[in-house]
Amino acid sequence: MNNKQKFLQVAIDVPINQLFDYLPNEEPFSIGQYVTIPFGRRKLIGVICGISLSSNIHPSKLKSVINVDPEIIFDAPMFKLLTFVSEYYHYPIGQTIMSVVPSRLKKNLNQLRQFELIYQATPKLTKAFINQLPTRQLRIRKVAKELLNADLRQTDVMKLVSNWSECINQLEAYGCLKSKKYEPKVNVPTAEIPTLNDEQKSVINAITKKKGYQASLVFGVTGSGKTEVYMQLIEHILKEPKSQALILVPEINLTPQLENRFRTRFPNQKLVSLHSHLNDIERLDNWRKAKSGEASIIIGTRLAIFTPIPFIKIIIIDEEHDMSFKQQDGLRYHARDVAMVRAKNINIPIILGTATPSLESWHNAKRIDNKYNFLKLNYRAVKSASLPEIKTVLVNDKTKNGISRALVDAINDRLERKEQSLIFINRRGFAPTLFCSSCSWTAECKRCSSKLVVHRKVNRLKCHHCGHDQNIINQCPACDSMGLHPLGSGTQKVEEALNKLFPEASILRVDRDTTRSKKSLTSLHDRMNNREVDILVGTQMLAKGHDFPFLTLVGVLDADNALYSPDYRAPEKLFSQLIQVSGRAGRSNIKGQVLIQTAFPNNPLFEGIKKHDYEIFAQTLLQEREQMGLPPFSFTAILRVESKQLKHGEKFINDAANYATSLSNKVVIYDPVRPSIERLKGYERFQLFIQANARKDLKNLLRQWVTYLRKYPLANRVKWSIDVDPVEF
Ligand SMILES: [Zn+2]
Ligand SMILES: [Zn+2]
Repeated sequence: MNNKQKFLQVAIDVPINQLFDYLPNEEPFSIGQYVTIPFGRRKLIGVICGISLSSNIHPSKLKSVINVDPEIIFDAPMFKLLTFVSEYYHYPIGQTIMSVVPSRLKKNLNQLRQFELIYQATPKLTKAFINQLPTRQLRIRKVAKELLNADLRQTDVMKLVSNWSECINQLEAYGCLKSKKYEPKVNVPTAEIPTLNDEQKSVINAITKKKGYQASLVFGVTGSGKTEVYMQLIEHILKEPKSQALILVPEINLTPQLENRFRTRFPNQKLVSLHSHLNDIERLDNWRKAKSGEASIIIGTRLAIFTPIPFIKIIIIDEEHDMSFKQQDGLRYHARDVAMVRAKNINIPIILGTATPSLESWHNAKRIDNKYNFLKLNYRAVKSASLPEIKTVLVNDKTKNGISRALVDAINDRLERKEQSLIFINRRGFAPTLFCSSCSWTAECKRCSSKLVVHRKVNRLKCHHCGHDQNIINQCPACDSMGLHPLGSGTQKVEEALNKLFPEASILRVDRDTTRSKKSLTSLHDRMNNREVDILVGTQMLAKGHDFPFLTLVGVLDADNALYSPDYRAPEKLFSQLIQVSGRAGRSNIKGQVLIQTAFPNNPLFEGIKKHDYEIFAQTLLQEREQMGLPPFSFTAILRVESKQLKHGEKFINDAANYATSLSNKVVIYDPVRPSIERLKGYERFQLFIQANARKDLKNLLRQWVTYLRKYPLANRVKWSIDVDPVEF
């Protein structure tokens, strides 16, 4: 027996970068378990991250944990990863851990269930029984009526009524309901396994011949069959007993179509998905199936990189260049970079797939020391499908409705041939703002330094940054003129213009205003595939992952915004977006065409796009970055500051800049600036960019700097955060 006093080191969701010592209670405990602990006057939930035989605090001054939850949330490798992440991103360890576990686990521990329930009516539940229930039991009646029609999943009941658990308990007490574990019925047809072309085969061979950690960049043109390569790799991995595969995809790509493609391909494997469209119970349930090893294929968005997967044998990151892998608040991690560390830690292969690699990955793949395995897919997988022809079309202020003659003609051709067109404009709403022709006043949000967007269908002015929403005004508040009109175009205006130009055509608009649910995207697919739609108008939602066999024309209306942006990553983003959009045209055997409208057709960026040549483009951009000392040739971070009062933010950021300058001469500290949106949701914003040639210099400075900022007297008047390897400015 070991009677030595043990101390539990507990991570708690507080902005202090340390673990807290507690004494155990009578219950058995181990690392990775949830505990309820007293913290000041509050009761908090924390996670045991260490067990020690000593403490810097005398045991008489330490408090005991209140209770220990039997479930182990994560294992030692996951704790190692999270410790790394906390140090790398300079985010407190407790907050790091608490921000990656399913949110339902952070709530009341006693309410936790290991699985979702499904409720069934007992013979006692009849119409007559419901009718004699007291009329004030409205919600109970509602649930009972539904239950009479069909069994209800826990999640259904939650959507049905507010105090759902009370209703269920009451019906149970009446003897009207019984519950059992919900098991989703999976009944999917088996998909045929396509034969691979030689390129695909050699990519798979190159990856599977080596054991252990190895990063591979699969650079494949759109439509080159990357997903099939992933699936064959997974198939190969899952031949070994007790194996699991993790696939990360951008949120926008995780469509029911993609999930189904995997399900039909692997009918005998348990597949779970992890993304923000799941409710808390579903997410927790899927997370547990991954953690227990029950699920062998896990498809998820960025947060899924922190899922405990005990038998993980491969990580695949689809569309690795996608900026949505970077979290933009709280723990600002990059899922691709964390995945790289995870794969290395546990010695498994990691695959990055994309048609337009991030410059970081491209640089790594092209290095002479072969940091990454560089694998190329040059051809579209469907033999007859060739890459679309891409042209630029000159437009200017006089172009009517922003739609050029050339584009109108091209759409007409498609209508005659009964093919489909996609018009891409990355701005939803009717017009970007309301403009006064007498005094040049424009409608701006009072809480943000941004324009209010005109939404004509609902007759509202909306701020796309903070959600502010008001009636459209008819009179200029500055000069009382009645000459207000919408300026510029958004998806709604383009839709209206197209309706006038092509009155016979069936036109469908797809943006965040029309597609609130995943279902609407499914019906979009059906309507496109049944050729019920002639012209599709939409935002970047349509840029990726969708496969429409009859779509042969893509028109891009607003490519120019990014050409002269202060964000040095803008050209990279635009290029990948244009390549993605172009990839929608001519996926099957009809040759596609892409028309990019621009006022600057000679911009070198378009040359690379026209030739479908990412390599030329990436090489040029990399040279530019090298000359300017920008990533991947240097390492950067941004301090972001927000304050209610201008002077507080100003003082904080200036003092922070001065202190940082005093710390190191190896790190360049730029002048503090205001970001392009200076004010957001009523907060004044500031940022400070820092840059170093060596990662360790940046890291050293950040460590000292963060310690200083956490103790800074003004720190409670401002909100600040450090963004390591930022992707947005
Ligand atoms: Zn005016
Ligand atoms: Zn706003």
